[in-house]
Parts: sequence; C-alpha cells; structure tokens
Amino acid sequence: SFKKSLGQNFIIDVNILQNIIREAGISETSGVIEVGPGIGALTEQLANAADKVVAYEVDSRLLPILDDTLHNCGNVQVVHQDILEADVKAMMNVCFDANQSIHVVANLPYYITTPILMKLLREELPVSSFTVMIQKEVAQRMAAQPNSKQYGSLTIAVQYYTDAEVVMSVPRSVFMPPPNVDSSVLKLTKKTEPPVEVDDEDYFFALVQACFAQRRKTLRNNLRRHFSEWADRDIITAVLDETGIDPVRRGESLTMEEFAGLANAFYRKFRN
Ligand code: SAM
Repeated sequence: SFKKSLGQNFIIDVNILQNIIREAGISETSGVIEVGPGIGALTEQLANAADKVVAYEVDSRLLPILDDTLHNCGNVQVVHQDILEADVKAMMNVCFDANQSIHVVANLPYYITTPILMKLLREELPVSSFTVMIQKEVAQRMAAQPNSKQYGSLTIAVQYYTDAEVVMSVPRSVFMPPPNVDSSVLKLTKKTEPPVEVDDEDYFFALVQACFAQRRKTLRNNLRRHFSEWADRDIITAVLDETGIDPVRRGESLTMEEFAGLANAFYRKFRN
C-alpha cells in the first residue's frame, strides 16, 4: 500500500531511470545523494553507475524492501531520516571523499519539493548538480525567464544558486500509482559564484517576494504594502527613482540584477 501523504509514486520504467542518470552526468567516480529512494528502483541503477550513494528515506515500512532491492549493492548507505531534518553536510563528510564530485538525484515527494530544494541550496552543500523529478509546473517556475507568467520569487531563489533547465518531460504512465499531475525532470547546476552582489540575502529574498505579492500590481504598490508600517510613499518612490527602475513596472519584468539593485538600495536606506 502506498502512502499518498508521503508522495509515494514509484517509477516503474527502467528507460526513464537511465535517462535521469544520464542527464545527471553520473560517472563511476561520482557520489550521489538520493532523497526518497522508495522501493529502490532508481537507487539500484544509481549504485551501478556511481561510486557511492547515500539515500534518505523517511518511511520505515520501505526499509526491508529497500534492503531486499539493494542486497547486491555494497555502495549504498540508506539513512532512515526526514531529509528536512537531516544534517546532510555532516553525512557528506563521512561518506564522500573531499575531492569527489557529488550530485543530488531524486524523484522527489512533490508535496515538499520546494522545502527540500531550498534546504539543500541554502545550506551551500558541496554539490555540483541537482537532477530531480518534480511537478511540471514547479519545474517551469524554477527555470522561468523574466516576463513570463511562471517567473516569480521561486525562480529568483533557485536561480540565485543554480542554472536551471527542464531536461525532460515525463508521462504519468511511468509511475505506480500514476500521480495526478504532470512531471518533468529539472536539472540545476550549481553556480560557482553568486550571480549578483546582495548586501543581505534574507533581505533580498524577502524583498523579491514582496515584489510578487500581488502579481498584477506595480512595484510601487507592492513595495508600499511591504514597507507600510514605517515608510511613507515618498521614500519608496525616491528609492525606486535612485535605482532607475520605473515604479510602474511589475515584478515579473525585473531581472535578478535589477532585484539585487533594488534590495541593496532599500537595505542601505533603511538599515543604516
Ligand atoms: N525514488 C523512488 C522512485 O523513483 O520510484 C520513490 C520516489 S517517491 C516520488 C518519493 C519518496 O520520498 C517516497 O519513498 C517517500 O516515502 C519519500 N519521502 C517522503 N517524504 C520524505 C522526507 N521528508 N524525507 C525523506 N524521504 C521522504
């Protein structure tokens, strides 16, 4: 019996598993972190392709099945833990060589896709890429470009850390049971440097979120609402002026560079 509440949709098509591993760029020297191995179909293929696999599974009922699937794979470490609570960095230090290239590969539980990816991105783990099966709409938002309806604060949050690309779209029929939504494989390649300079990352991300709070509203209106408690409209307009960004533009037209400029300007005005 599957646990819908844990997002349990297992991949039953070996070709799809092979394609995911190919897109991830796994070689026999790679280290792999898998989230949610389930009954171990992807895990087993990963174990054959990589040097070492660490797989986090929260559902204890699956552990004996995993044991059975993986009984020939000496290079897999199954960790029975909620990934959102795991100290992944410490585990990486124990399981992988310092110079090994590490990749996250997973068919993620869709109900916590964003929390999982944001946790792994924000912890700045020494991971070179993330190749993940997720809900198609979420993949499109993470890989979106400005001036599209998918572009939003999630886009900026993900693309601040990585280059994002939708590499595959996947039919429902490869899963058991089939999910109620369409799926895509998203590849995130870690940026070596942050793409923009921001004075304060939390402040930056909060301001970006505020700019998209009401998508149909102008920047000026969204920012006024965001700063309402202690800034009057003249200050908001003045700061927007200073950055050279037209106050009647909408959040969805701003590039990451423009958001960074805006966040830094407000930060310097209000925090110093
Ligand atoms: N990898 C398998 C496959 O492709 O067939 C299973 C993928 S299934 C979509 C998601 C898996 O994540 C399930 O096995 C589920 O139990 C597990 N899971 C759900 N929440 C989790 C969490 N917080 N931490 C770790 N694993 C979790």
